[in-house]
Amino acid sequence: MSEVRSHERPVCEVCSKTGATVVDKYTRSPWPVVACNSCGFVYLGRVPDYEDLSVNLAWEKQAAEEKQRRKKNKLARFDALTRFRLKFGKLVDRARHTRAVPATGRVLEIGCGPSTRIPEGPTPYGIEISEALSKRAQPIFEGRGGAVYHEPATDGIERFEDNFFDSILMRSYLEHEAQPRLILERAFKRLKPGGKILLRSPNYNSANRFIRGSEWCGFRFPDHVNYFTPRSLKALAESVGYEFHWMNWMSLFDDNLIVELKKPQAAAA
Ligand SMILES: [Zn+2]
Repeated sequence: MSEVRSHERPVCEVCSKTGATVVDKYTRSPWPVVACNSCGFVYLGRVPDYEDLSVNLAWEKQAAEEKQRRKKNKLARFDALTRFRLKFGKLVDRARHTRAVPATGRVLEIGCGPSTRIPEGPTPYGIEISEALSKRAQPIFEGRGGAVYHEPATDGIERFEDNFFDSILMRSYLEHEAQPRLILERAFKRLKPGGKILLRSPNYNSANRFIRGSEWCGFRFPDHVNYFTPRSLKALAESVGYEFHWMNWMSLFDDNLIVELKKPQAAAA
């Protein structure tokens, strides 16, 4: 891991202020978990460069390493139960998002991985930072008249015209994005008025995080770089111009935040 190129994040992505304090109990060297001194948002203070996310630190490798690490952990049996619960939760919330995707038009999936979660109907577009995964996804998107691009999301989204998409899927993506404000701003312009982002991201305020502490499933070093709570995600989204709607309002008991961010009907690109 020593050859990973990384950089410090200059400001808090939620309130845009400098100044943060290291949270020692969650920090795993060399990746400091910090809390913003102004708004409390928790994030990784140092993040890998995008180039390293393309191959060296690609998600599929990270996931395999994390699995090995957890296997060795004393709490492994408890963890297996948690995973079952997570899997079940995933099915329920995936159905929620699937229902919310429009039957026609154009839908973008950011961080699509090796396939797509966009249901049949609309023309699917994808952006995937891992080279290997984007190659696997390519024939699936192209077979349905769409396309997938291997790029950092903040660059890939610039390919599209303003007011282009009916809906944008961000599932298990925003927690990886070192510039969540920038991607939400760029997505806002590409959504049609009334268009929506369907978003799922780990919930830092979940009861499970308090119980499991540093072993909580939301911690992944260094690929999870944002630790949103209901409050911080809402503050970030609203400051960009979105209307914020819950899809799982009982979120205290959920390891994930499942929300809809709507570009107001009256909004200009
Ligand atoms: Zn802040």
